[in-house]
Amino acid sequence: MYRTNTCGELTLANAGQTVTLAGWLQKSRDLGGLTFIDLRDRYGITQLTFNMDVNAALCEQARKLGREFVLQITGTVCERSNKNLKIPTGEIEINVTELKVLNAAATPPFTIEDETDGGDELRMKYRYLDIRRNPVKEKLILRHEMMKYTRSFMDAENFVEVETPVLIKSTPEGARDFLVPSRMNPGQFYALPQSPQTFKQLLMVAGMDRYFQMVKCFRDEDLRADRQPEFTQIDCEMSFIEQEDILNLFENLVRHLFKKVKGVDIPEMMRMQYADAMRYYGCDKPDLRFDMKFVELKSEANDIVSGAGFGVFDNAELVLAINAKNAAVYTRKQLDELTEWVKDPRRGMSGLIYARVENDGTVKSSVDKFYDQEKLQAWAKACNAEAGDLILILCGATNKTRKAMGDLRLEMGNRLQLRDPNKYICLWVLDFPLLEWNEEDKRWYAMHHPFTSPLPEHIEMLHTNPGAVNANAYDMVINGVEVGGGSIRIHDRTLQSKLFEVLGFTADEAKEKFGFLLNAFEYGAPPHGGIAFGFDRLCSLFGGSESIRDYIAFPKNNSGRDVMIDAPGPVNSKELDMLGIKLANI
Ligand code: ASP
Repeated sequence: MYRTNTCGELTLANAGQTVTLAGWLQKSRDLGGLTFIDLRDRYGITQLTFNMDVNAALCEQARKLGREFVLQITGTVCERSNKNLKIPTGEIEINVTELKVLNAAATPPFTIEDETDGGDELRMKYRYLDIRRNPVKEKLILRHEMMKYTRSFMDAENFVEVETPVLIKSTPEGARDFLVPSRMNPGQFYALPQSPQTFKQLLMVAGMDRYFQMVKCFRDEDLRADRQPEFTQIDCEMSFIEQEDILNLFENLVRHLFKKVKGVDIPEMMRMQYADAMRYYGCDKPDLRFDMKFVELKSEANDIVSGAGFGVFDNAELVLAINAKNAAVYTRKQLDELTEWVKDPRRGMSGLIYARVENDGTVKSSVDKFYDQEKLQAWAKACNAEAGDLILILCGATNKTRKAMGDLRLEMGNRLQLRDPNKYICLWVLDFPLLEWNEEDKRWYAMHHPFTSPLPEHIEMLHTNPGAVNANAYDMVINGVEVGGGSIRIHDRTLQSKLFEVLGFTADEAKEKFGFLLNAFEYGAPPHGGIAFGFDRLCSLFGGSESIRDYIAFPKNNSGRDVMIDAPGPVNSKELDMLGIKLANI
């Protein structure tokens, strides 16, 4: 037997027992007569003691061991005089009687401690050492828990996990495909799935009724902290359901996960129309942990700022305000800094106007020249601003101003520390537009994917006013992060063909690309719909970290490289010949 116990479980209750442990040398301290070693395994750390007076040879041997050596020891569990109550094993130590070095170790390139001195790339290159560190290990265990509770929930709800193929043909999720050349079909390529979308719909035609899969998906996109070229989805599809059924069921899944994994009770989720999210928060995934809803001082519906001789407002399509509570104390310097922030090309605003409500209730603004106290009071009233509050105003073209104000709102949320990491506000965003116009290509694209059903009452507008058609689609947003999205699908061949037509496919192109699906729809497709959650992202949200990388055992870097195994890499010309591929000089 390699070990009788783990390094995380021995306590005073075991005092006097003879035990055998195995693990890695975390650190050692040589105090002359005594040598201490912290022995680490997945479960924790146990202190080992070697006493010169008791066994000099063993003590000499222990002194020579380096960090990360793999050891097996036998000894007696004893009460410690110098207790460490921060760890479960901190009241005991092992007086070692036998020591075996199972393997030596080179000096690790960074310290294997909770806080390490290793940079990102170095840690990824030696990921197997990084995973020895508690914070990384714990994130992988959290991921496992999330997976376990997802599977048990789905199983209890009668879902069947079905695996779908990885070598397929392009799926239309709007990103670029990864392609795999086929040796047996020279000149032809498989695509890796961006999602199992078409397969899960075919499983509904096949009568599976409730499908799910913890599935790897692949999208060849430029990477950011919250994206990886391969990622995992909780992918689901159901038959004979309506939007309401899906919202209820998956709201319960997420609440179940919060309860089981974090012990947090999530109240019934809020719901918001896409149009309202854009109008009041400037984005389709509002962070509702704090309020700061936009107030339209001037819009199509309302105008309390024009006609005072201030040309900037007079000429603006939209004038938006937010109320930063208790921020009237902001100094000139802070306001100048915010002004520069909104002028940054990423926001592209020409300036920032502010009004602060003084302690005596009077309002002082940066445009006092144009607006008297009565008018400024009207602004304060519209914004529900009270003494001590700061009103921030942006104006310009509608979409641009909304987007910039959405960014400013989040920035103020950060600066005023309103985005509490221990608070979770979950929201459904509903009724997305079905289509998006692409000015460059001069054509409509599906906002979600081309199998999403329009709202039944909007079908008629498909040809007359496609931009006004809303989809029967929904996203789940938690703390400003889109964690999942899905839709009720089209299950009628004629409607599906019609949509392909609006998307600019000729009948032949549609047949070539999606003939298999259109065909299947001839054989009794049930009404169906589904959803997919970004599993890595959900894990990072539960774990409280910005980066999904931390929750992936072996992630890729920002250039899509695995720096540990050094992939992707070149292949030799023989292999390329076999695939019938000739490389241009790159
Ligand atoms: N296949 C979609 C996606 O990956 C999700 C869905 O519509 O179920 O975003």
